Amino acid sequence: DAADSDALVLFGVTGDLARKKIFPALYAMAKLGTLQVPVIGVASSKLSLAQLRKRAEESVKAAGKIDDRAALRRLLSQLRYVDGNYNDPETFKALGKALGDARRPAYYLAIPPALFATVIKGLGAAGLAEQARVIVEKPFGRDLASARELNRVAREVFPEDAIFRIDHFLAKEAIMNILYFRFANSFLEPIWNRNYVASVQITLSESFGVESRGAFYETAGCLRDVVQNHLFQIVALLAMEPPTYRGFGAVHGEATDVFQAMRPLEVGDLVRGQYAGYRKEPGVAKKSDVETFCALRLYIDSWRWQGVPWYLRSGKCLAQTAAEVIVQLKPPPQQLFADSAPVGAPTNYLRFRIAPNSAVALAARVKRAGREYAGSQQELYLSDERPTEQAPYARLLGDAMAGNAALFTREDAVEAAWAVVEPVLAKHQATVPYKRGSWGPKQADALIAGDGGWFEPKLDAAPSK
Ligand code: NAP
Repeated sequence: DAADSDALVLFGVTGDLARKKIFPALYAMAKLGTLQVPVIGVASSKLSLAQLRKRAEESVKAAGKIDDRAALRRLLSQLRYVDGNYNDPETFKALGKALGDARRPAYYLAIPPALFATVIKGLGAAGLAEQARVIVEKPFGRDLASARELNRVAREVFPEDAIFRIDHFLAKEAIMNILYFRFANSFLEPIWNRNYVASVQITLSESFGVESRGAFYETAGCLRDVVQNHLFQIVALLAMEPPTYRGFGAVHGEATDVFQAMRPLEVGDLVRGQYAGYRKEPGVAKKSDVETFCALRLYIDSWRWQGVPWYLRSGKCLAQTAAEVIVQLKPPPQQLFADSAPVGAPTNYLRFRIAPNSAVALAARVKRAGREYAGSQQELYLSDERPTEQAPYARLLGDAMAGNAALFTREDAVEAAWAVVEPVLAKHQATVPYKRGSWGPKQADALIAGDGGWFEPKLDAAPSK
């Protein structure tokens, strides 16, 4: 098995991600005793070590109660700081010194994507890449050509098994449960195909806007920010063939096959929306046409899924913050009972709740007590209500430092996913405005109207003990 990393280097240690997610994750790891290496922050903000420690402590505090002072002290004592510009070879020399005896560092690139290649090349040129690992934040490219170029640069310096591309959705409990639920049970497989599944829909919605990250959002938009990566990964887990051996090489292979089987999107498959007031957000262009919402229809050209539409929607300033999958099963062929849903109307579905809680529900019609054959649609609701013990970033950092690539994305998968959205990135389609607090523009409803419409994510009641 691969040896553990013996240092963690955080490029972008002064950034928003470091403050919001990385320091709290490091604290979680320190509490578990899984972070026992030097943590070297790199940035160009001319901080003193004391200032960096103060920032780290503040960010841990902002994320929740400090319930283990000793762990926090350990984390702070492990911190080092290297200052410098990423274009300057001296920065990497200084980093080499700070690494001391560490021979197998993990480099975490929590920096603007435009600097990924600069830092990777800098590490290579300074001779710091041998036996090292590199963890790359999203977005991995902004289209197929830039993803290929980034892969090329990364592969010049690191072998594929040393490159850890983050899609933090893969480390969410509810998403890991999709893989588990599909392949730890036997009842699903016989119906998990075009013969029984009518359509699939996935909603990933936020009730808030771009907040302070307008300038970043202007470079991305909804399709690039969450659909090509997070939502496509969910599709892959739902649609993949059963992996034929244990081990995540098989899962990665099957996921890549799904991306390769996705039909490239056409303009008519996509609705782009923008919430009212987006153009007045700080950092946003007055005439911006960046989409804060998108809805799309996708087909997977495989034996299993031929003809089954997959509907994906995501957006900001929508009615709810939620993430949910609905796998709609075909209705029974005949209507035997007077109260049944009309032929063609949905009766059975599987609902994978992804956020804010993790659950799976199966909807079916159940008879009400009484003489009549009359009933209602109810859900069989399954969930593990225990709080999840690890945040995705703690899990991902620990896995990368242990050389475990299971929850990271592979070169060929990333490129195949970009190839699917490439045609609609190339052909510009104007955004349609929508009201804050709505479910996006009407055109998104029209897209799915023939398949029963969007499900409003349920506000799950706390299940009884
Ligand atoms: P950020 O705050 O904008 O930047 C991170 C750091 O990079 C800054 O602290 C800054 O450090 C350095 N930097 C910024 N612009 C630079 C420039 N033009 N030249 C040289 N250095 C520059 O970014 P972030 O929001 O933390 O995001 C970091 C990475 O995580 C990005 O790839 C982003 O896409 C990804 N990500 C972020 C979030 C999030 O919520 N923030 C979520 C998911 C993924 P110094 O100036 O001190 O050197």
